[in-house]
Amino acid sequence: MSNINRRSFIKNTTVGVAGLSIFGCAGKYHSEVIPKKGKRVIVVGGGFGGATAAKYIKLNDPTIEVILIEKNSYFVSCPISNLVIVGLKDMNYITFKYDLLEKNYGIKILQAEALELNPENNTLITTKGVLKYDKLILSPGIGFIEDNNIGYSLNLTDKIPHAWKAGKQTEILRQQLSELKKGGTVILRVPKSPYRCPPGPYERASLIANFIKRNNLGGKIIILDSNDDVTSKGKLFKAAWNNFYRRELEYFSQVEVQNIDAENMIIDTNKGKIKGDIINFIPNQKASNTAFKLGLIKEDKLWAFVNSYTFESEIFKNVYVIGDSTNTGSVGTVPKSGYIANSMGKVVAESVVSSLNGKMPPKPFMANACYSMVSDTEAIWVTAVYEYNENVKRTITIKGASGTPKTRSKIDAKHQLSWAENIWSDTLM
Ligand SMILES: Cc1cc2nc3c(=O)[nH]c(=O)nc-3n(C[C@H](O)[C@H](O)[C@H](O)COP(=O)(O)OP(=O)(O)OC[C@H]3O[C@@H](n4cnc5c(N)ncnc54)[C@H](O)[C@@H]3O)c2cc1C
Repeated sequence: MSNINRRSFIKNTTVGVAGLSIFGCAGKYHSEVIPKKGKRVIVVGGGFGGATAAKYIKLNDPTIEVILIEKNSYFVSCPISNLVIVGLKDMNYITFKYDLLEKNYGIKILQAEALELNPENNTLITTKGVLKYDKLILSPGIGFIEDNNIGYSLNLTDKIPHAWKAGKQTEILRQQLSELKKGGTVILRVPKSPYRCPPGPYERASLIANFIKRNNLGGKIIILDSNDDVTSKGKLFKAAWNNFYRRELEYFSQVEVQNIDAENMIIDTNKGKIKGDIINFIPNQKASNTAFKLGLIKEDKLWAFVNSYTFESEIFKNVYVIGDSTNTGSVGTVPKSGYIANSMGKVVAESVVSSLNGKMPPKPFMANACYSMVSDTEAIWVTAVYEYNENVKRTITIKGASGTPKTRSKIDAKHQLSWAENIWSDTLM
């Protein structure tokens, strides 16, 4: 194809997709995909943070136009995905469409990818065209750190899945586990804190040990933890491992991975070499690549710094960041969880609606409850409530409002599913 033909091919294809020409003569986007009329908030990312923010803006003030931009056609929940990996639930259970947000609240859903930000003109460029906004909220989730020094790249994830974003990765790990041979070894690497869902790797390890035991496979799971100790609900996890999985689970802390030999499935660490039939390498994490591309991460930083009261970015006015992409220190003591992203969605909704209506937003409160299965029938949990503190200008944990149970229980396994169904409903329906 000649250059001229190729250019007009691209232009014509794009017109077809967007319904409007979005490329100018210098290859720049210029036309608005949905022309702005009244007050408008754009939300990027239809996960726990973004979908909640979009819904609660509409609940607070239905006159505001809300456009939710999400690159995927479905929401696939990370919570409960560990149960899918071990065959206790299926993908359908954790997969949802976005149509109810449109139908119930009048949110405009645009399946597109946010590419570039022009904060001077309040303009966002997406794969479907340009959009103008009064307020822009981003909840784009996490990104993974590739590390050439140890031979880790995201190109390996078909063979060495992380399964730390639910969807195809969940299915790969589930498939690998279903084919685990008798006496096989699973290696699970826990990333260095901070990472998405602190108890998540230990829940997964418990469920895989339970899978090995239930199916009489005679194999084991080896946890290689980069942290000093189990980062969440440590006593409760360790009690379950001691009681249930003395043969099936081995735990090592302070493990530094020095090399990954994907061909031979060998991990070299400061504690020795280890060969796995399955390697579930969960990489170290940072804010989503979208937050970097849109200029929301300060030089040499990995997460987005925000005002803890309003969630406005420390870099750009009228741009807000919530969810896992935020820098924990700048927000306060909250973990990177779906429940917290959902809480942040509500706080930022109040924040932008108040600002658009010339009012001061109310003082932020947030809550977290996180369940983890330790076997196919029993679960543990941790809860906390947070409030904004004027003295430190951060969100802090309210004393006496946090807790863990004394031990695991069957009723909490039921509560975990109720919790998940409630938060999916609160976020998406
Ligand atoms: C195995 C596992 C188990 C977990 N269990 C729990 C649990 O029990 N409880 C709990 O509270 N939390 C749990 N979590 C954590 C929870 O999933 C995350 O904290 C939560 O998803 C964060 O929400 P978010 O909105 O920040 O990001 P996400 O939910 O990841 O949403 C980000 C969205 O942004 C979209 N996006 C990104 N960039 C763009 C772009 N440029 N254009 C358009 N769209 C874009 C993505 O496609 C994605 O849909 C778990 C996580 C894992 C991995």
